[in-house]
Amino acid sequence: MIVSLRALKIFFVFTVGSFLIATLYISALVVERQELLREISHYNPAFQVSQAVTEFMRLERHLVVFEDQHGESDKDEVLLRYDIILNRTKILLEGAFQTFVQSAPDHQDTLRNLASALAAVQPLMETLDRPGAARQALEVLAPLEPRLIQLASFAHNLEAERVARDQQELIRLHWLFSGLAISLILFGIVMIALLNRHNRLLGKAHADLHVLAGSLAHAANHDALTDLPNRVLFREKLEVALQAFRQQGRDFAVLCLDLDRFKNVNDALGHEVGDYLLKVVADRLRGCLGTGDIAARLGGDEFAILQQPIESMESCAAQASRIVEELSAPYVIDGHEIVIGTSIGIAAAGNGIVTPDQLLKHADLALYEAKSQGRGTFRYFEPEMEVRLHARRILEVDLRRALAHDEFELFYQPQINIETEEISGFEALLRWHHPLRGMISPAEFIPIAEDIGLISPLGEWVLNQACAEASKWPRDMKVAVNLSPLQFRSRSLVQSVSGALARTGLSPDRLELEITESSLLQENEATLAVLYQLRRLGVRIAMDDFGTGYSSVGYLRGFPFDKIKIDQSFVRDIPSQADSFVIVQSIASLGAGLRMSTVAEGVETEDQFRQIRAAGCTEAQGYYFGRPKPARELVYTLKSAHCTT
Ligand code: C2E
Ligand code: MG
Ligand code: MG
Repeated sequence: MIVSLRALKIFFVFTVGSFLIATLYISALVVERQELLREISHYNPAFQVSQAVTEFMRLERHLVVFEDQHGESDKDEVLLRYDIILNRTKILLEGAFQTFVQSAPDHQDTLRNLASALAAVQPLMETLDRPGAARQALEVLAPLEPRLIQLASFAHNLEAERVARDQQELIRLHWLFSGLAISLILFGIVMIALLNRHNRLLGKAHADLHVLAGSLAHAANHDALTDLPNRVLFREKLEVALQAFRQQGRDFAVLCLDLDRFKNVNDALGHEVGDYLLKVVADRLRGCLGTGDIAARLGGDEFAILQQPIESMESCAAQASRIVEELSAPYVIDGHEIVIGTSIGIAAAGNGIVTPDQLLKHADLALYEAKSQGRGTFRYFEPEMEVRLHARRILEVDLRRALAHDEFELFYQPQINIETEEISGFEALLRWHHPLRGMISPAEFIPIAEDIGLISPLGEWVLNQACAEASKWPRDMKVAVNLSPLQFRSRSLVQSVSGALARTGLSPDRLELEITESSLLQENEATLAVLYQLRRLGVRIAMDDFGTGYSSVGYLRGFPFDKIKIDQSFVRDIPSQADSFVIVQSIASLGAGLRMSTVAEGVETEDQFRQIRAAGCTEAQGYYFGRPKPARELVYTLKSAHCTT
């Protein structure tokens, strides 16, 4: 039960009021009771009457004796008795006794008669020595005796009644007094009980408040999703660690983590799955911590670990690679098997670091480096990273301007039909003519364009340009265009492709789109729908860099590609490593079985060409047949292309 403060106030006022009234009433009762006792003790009419009757009879007796002894007894004694009875009569006539006998006129008469009789005998008293005076007095007084005895008896009865009534009244007062006292005691007990309860409620409220304050403090310092410390708390911990480093030389390191491909999960499977994945990641991270370590979620898919104390950079590296391994193991959520990874940047205390922010910045730089070097790995901070980052920022700025400044150009590299030994088409490879740095490789700037959101307009430019150039080529020569995974996931891809075909008039079967496995990593219905829509346009789809991923064969089963491009790393190793030949041969026979053509990339020597032909590949591409060249320099026959290299 929750007693409101207002109700408690009312109750308190009521109780205090009751106490006050009861106290006043009790004091009135006490006064009344004292008055009654006083009355009882002071006022005793029966006693007064009986005293008067006794004195009256004494007077009579002394008069009789005086008369019998003829004045030889003590006259003064008679006169004294007379005076006494005179006084008594006076008291009875004037005092409170009158109120006592108000209700009995007979007895009032008796008193009056007594007074008259006494007045009548007064002259006789004065002449008492005279013979016969005492007898005369006795004659006057004697008739009153029975009536006086009656009066005494009446007074006695009346007195008894009154005493009984007073006793009743005293008993009533006693009960009233006791009742009130008991009520007050009960009130007091109820009050104490209520106060006690109130106190307990207050105590509980205080405890609840304490818990609430605790959970609010926890919420302010922890991430709601994973319950890991948040950035605020992590910075505080770093501050403490820095202090311990300065004062006691306690070494520590900070690991900044960023999940690889987490965005794909969110985009493809929704935020609920993404959130759940983050929780599991947090749990796995907790499992990788040492005793003094602290893990935190800095936001989004960024985590951090404070590793302390550290024995050596090797132990730090061991923990980092364990984390990479743990987080890269597949996750099964809602029936989906999800593969993500993590990149880690490590910064150790020292290096002139004085604030947590500097330390986090160093770890971030190292993380950035780890990501740009292929992800799924870790890097230590090095001062040169700052220089490289600066250079990258400059490159980003330049890249944003490059499209408008017409700094891009497409180079084309021939693809050879092994059977006919003729050029079947060209792969369009993007080049950036940087005004200061000269030609920059797509391997360097495409990832940057992807990072800064420039890949869509750039990809669209490539599509249009490649289709426009190819439409001028002889025969049915094909053009292959590389698509970034990000382009592939954008909703406008199908529209861009059909737009480019429509604008340039290129026959769709002459356009080949090269996609990599990473485009299919989050294979779902939307991905497949895009592939089928492209296929319906009539364009061909090739799987690029086949063999560099880890589940390529599964992707081939999910969608009927037109072409498989075997990654150049296998072709490069063919002369030296027998297993590379076996792999190329297997892929070629797999392609033949699935009715897909197979292109061997990176053929640089005649020997390699011979071997990939023996392995059963249907097409070849590489410096051996021709390096990528601008459109204006293209030759379309193998013989002449061969001559120009
Ligand atoms: P890729 O699609 O696998 O292209 C083949 C790469 O191998 C090209 O490098 C090419 O010049 C190189 N190459 C060809 N033959 C040989 C050879 O015999 N030996 C050696 N060592 N290399 C050879 P490039 O032009 O630097 O392109 C690198 C990558 O950049 C491409 O790999 C492709 O993934 C990407 N890329 C190029 N152009 C575009 C584009 O327009 N859009 C997108 N999204 N990516 C592109
Ligand atoms: Mg390619
Ligand atoms: Mg390739």
